[in-house]
Amino acid sequence: MTENTLKCPKCKSKNLRKYGFAIVSGGTKKQRHQCIDCGHVFTDETESITEEQL
Ligand SMILES: [Zn+2]
Repeated sequence: MTENTLKCPKCKSKNLRKYGFAIVSGGTKKQRHQCIDCGHVFTDETESITEEQL
């Protein structure tokens, strides 16, 4: 009924926007999201992908 209840892993905010795709090894595209509240960018997978941390 609703979209994924995705939350920012940093501040737990649900104010997210799509932020392009991340290409992982193997050519798989994964949706990336940016938190509007804190600006943190992350993928919506909980695999061991390298997060971007500035
Ligand atoms: Zn956040």
